[in-house]
Amino acid sequence: MQEDLFKRLVSHCKEYGFIYPSSEVYDGLGGVYDYGPMGAELKNNIKEYWWKAIVQMHENIVGLDSAIFMHPKIWKASGHVDAFNDPLVDNKDSKKRYRADQLIEGEIDKLQKKIDKEVEKASKRFDNFDEAMFRSTNPRVVEWAQRADDIAKRLAKALSAGDMADLKAQIDELGIADPESGSRNWTEVRQFNLMFSTQMSNIAGDDGKLYLRPETAQGIFVNFLNVQKTTRQKVPFGIAQIGKAFRNEIVGRQFIFRMREFEQMEMQFFVRPGSEMEWYEYWKTKRMAWHQSVTPAAKLRFKPHEALAHYANAALDIEFEFPFGFKELEGIHSRTDFDLNSHQELSGRKLQYFDPELNENYVPYVVETSIGVDRMFLAVMTNALVEETVPDAQGEDSTRTVLRIPPALAPVKCAVLPIVRNKEELVEKARSIFDRLKPYFQCQYDEKDAIGRRYRRQDAVGTPYCITIDFETMEDDTVTIRERDSMKQERVPVAKVAEIVREKTDMHRLLASLT
Ligand code: ATP
Repeated sequence: MQEDLFKRLVSHCKEYGFIYPSSEVYDGLGGVYDYGPMGAELKNNIKEYWWKAIVQMHENIVGLDSAIFMHPKIWKASGHVDAFNDPLVDNKDSKKRYRADQLIEGEIDKLQKKIDKEVEKASKRFDNFDEAMFRSTNPRVVEWAQRADDIAKRLAKALSAGDMADLKAQIDELGIADPESGSRNWTEVRQFNLMFSTQMSNIAGDDGKLYLRPETAQGIFVNFLNVQKTTRQKVPFGIAQIGKAFRNEIVGRQFIFRMREFEQMEMQFFVRPGSEMEWYEYWKTKRMAWHQSVTPAAKLRFKPHEALAHYANAALDIEFEFPFGFKELEGIHSRTDFDLNSHQELSGRKLQYFDPELNENYVPYVVETSIGVDRMFLAVMTNALVEETVPDAQGEDSTRTVLRIPPALAPVKCAVLPIVRNKEELVEKARSIFDRLKPYFQCQYDEKDAIGRRYRRQDAVGTPYCITIDFETMEDDTVTIRERDSMKQERVPVAKVAEIVREKTDMHRLLASLT
């Protein structure tokens, strides 16, 4: 069922101009995608909603747009040159590459699925089924859960110790086979650095080796004092940035969930040392509220990290229930003073803040919120895509595909439709209404096909309102306005349309709900 939803989602994205595979005429490029006309609008709206919620709604957060190329030493200081690796393993027979940790996680997922099946079976057998009791007492379920837990713990330990030999040992002990070929003939596991590199034209050798940034955060760290001085912000304050990031993922997977070129929305919040846990809690709550303003709460959850990255003293993910299960959508990390300190050491420049209230200099601590635009896009589409049965014009059952995208994020806010296209005065009137509306929001004019089909086309791209111009319009200057979800139609004066649509689709409502 969920797999089915995922397939439908991918083909819907292609069919309606949301997302195309990159370089499709050359059979595509793995883990890279292009956003079509509808996708570009939706993506811009997601970015705008994040930017406004973070920058516009907080006096003490300012924006930045730093370059993708940065001095190569930045990636040495941040730890990416030495430690931004994934464990890679090749299957000698199929020649396929895998992430060793994902193969092992696959075993945990299998056990989890077995447990869920057992619970479901039992819940059908017993009337007053006590799930918690069953999970903690059924011998088979307890044994599987214990096994899953043991595997997860050993995996986390091997990953944080960088113990590649133990990952290989786990693959062998668990008898993991290549999902494609069934072969168990694996190479050793080795570290693979995820940064893409390129060469600057005017500097030869390693000094001219540039990296495509794997995160936007470092551009914020190295500009921390520039921004603080030019904006006269006082700690605590934040710097936000939206931009492309690049990771040479071993396996590009699950559509736009794991890409090699993607976009991040990151915010680094600089705080007094010692106050970071308070701010970590604050941003945890704030970011969850932002998600819940556009996503049902049941599809979101917090997941604390099993193993902390070298720079963090606390970290969690906000997970979303994608069609392939709960997975990371956003990370919230207390990054301590690791990055600023490292840049201070390697550059030899002071990156300290003078706190006028304490009358002392210090390197601030940092709480980071980091979300992928593309994963948010996939979350919005997952929530939105619905197929439902509705009555057609003759009252018969018909199915419609509708994207219930929150109106403020919808690519097109309003479609303008003359009821027929062979009456010149109707078309002229519709065109003049379209011209009046387009300065206010994204509109579409459509006169092709029967009105019912045009409504369906707009439903399929998530347009919240359709305005229909008919013969009555010519008499009393009113139009029908149709709402996407309820399909209710109302007659309203032409002069009111812009105001109605703007009030319902503008971002200010969502933003106001966050305070
Ligand atoms: P994962 O564990 O899924 O690889 P991560 O922990 O490496 O993710 P972060 O480094 O915390 O991810 O990056 C912050 C955010 O950037 C993630 O929450 C995710 O939304 C997004 N992101 C990271 N890698 C990718 C990718 N390859 N494709 C799309 N989005 C990504």
